[in-house]
Amino acid sequence: MTEFDIDIRNITTPCYLVDERLLQKNMEVLKSVSDKTGCRILLAQKAFSMFSMYPMMSKYLAGTTASSLFEAKLGKEEFGGETHIFAPAYKESEMDEIIRLCDHIVFNSFSQWKRFKDKVLNARKAGKKLECGIRINPEYAEIETDIYNPCFIGSRLGTTLKAFEENLDLEGIDGLHFHTMCEQNSDTLERTLKVVEEKFGKYMKDMKWINFGGGHHITRKDYDVERLISCINHIQETYDVQVYLEPGEATALNTGYLVAEVLELSENGMNLAILDTSAACHMPDVLEMPYRPEIIGAGKPGEKEYTYRFGGPTCLAGDIIGDYSFDKPLEIGQKLVFTDMSHYTMVKNNTFNGINLPTILSYNENEKIKEIRRFSYADFKGRLS
Ligand SMILES: *Cc1c(COP(=O)(O)O)cnc(C)c1O
Repeated sequence: MTEFDIDIRNITTPCYLVDERLLQKNMEVLKSVSDKTGCRILLAQKAFSMFSMYPMMSKYLAGTTASSLFEAKLGKEEFGGETHIFAPAYKESEMDEIIRLCDHIVFNSFSQWKRFKDKVLNARKAGKKLECGIRINPEYAEIETDIYNPCFIGSRLGTTLKAFEENLDLEGIDGLHFHTMCEQNSDTLERTLKVVEEKFGKYMKDMKWINFGGGHHITRKDYDVERLISCINHIQETYDVQVYLEPGEATALNTGYLVAEVLELSENGMNLAILDTSAACHMPDVLEMPYRPEIIGAGKPGEKEYTYRFGGPTCLAGDIIGDYSFDKPLEIGQKLVFTDMSHYTMVKNNTFNGINLPTILSYNENEKIKEIRRFSYADFKGRLS
């Protein structure tokens, strides 16, 4: 973890605070991979859609990928470069706009491809540069949690080899896409590629590109970048294809904070603290994943003298962030800094219980702390009726 050197005394909480310096460092790591290999790297917006950062990020990455029409539109409007999309199924009513916005569309099955093939071919005839791919399911993943494993039995994500060969219709198809990783290192990628090649290698030679999906934890300290580079080179050289990566989490890993304040202290068999931020509303992965986010200066429960259980201001009993210990007793109004809060937070938060969304702040050397967006009652009311 990097030293926290931002003066937060005057900020109002709760807020997400994204450090542009750290985001830029991640971009440099990713760019070094594309520079060394010629692979193209896209931002998977579902993890991080803080579009005020897109002008900076677009200097380093080839474009964006989207999981929906809205994400595609955001990427096209604010990021530029290439605009890719994958969705398990597309809506007929959205396809014309998707074709207008995107240059690469990945279909989940040949059935999806057949449904929209005429639209795609017509667009190409009209001069639109539009490449299409099929998402394959190599039925190999090293992910323990089913909610994040696209290869679990009965998964709807991707086409298995059996389904691929039964429905083969590659005319007009330019690429193959797989996404089977989650927060993993390049040794997992290497083993995954072995299976992908064994099963789908014979089709890869006819493709223009292979997309390795996301889940590559490239910007993590212990990530083996050299192995990633050799994986990319191997595939590009063996099959004469362009490799794409579309990391989400790795783009924004360890680049931001969620700053909160202690609202109340109490006791029920243990010390309790109620904060002005909520796991359910502001960091839903804490409950979904689940995991315990780190707080600067705090230890594991029992590690330091004063241990507290942190809960949110909602009335959900399970809105528990975790247990933390401190050298000194906490005080009402004390600020707490949760780390690694850029990705899968802003894109997933909600106003359950009428809890306001955290303000979004950025930090850079010149502008210091800058308020990007503050939310209000109007944002809460605006999505209800
Ligand atoms: C989620 C997802 C990504 C990004 O995954 P990360 O784990 O955030 O890197 C990329 N591609 C597809 C198809 C996805 O579903």
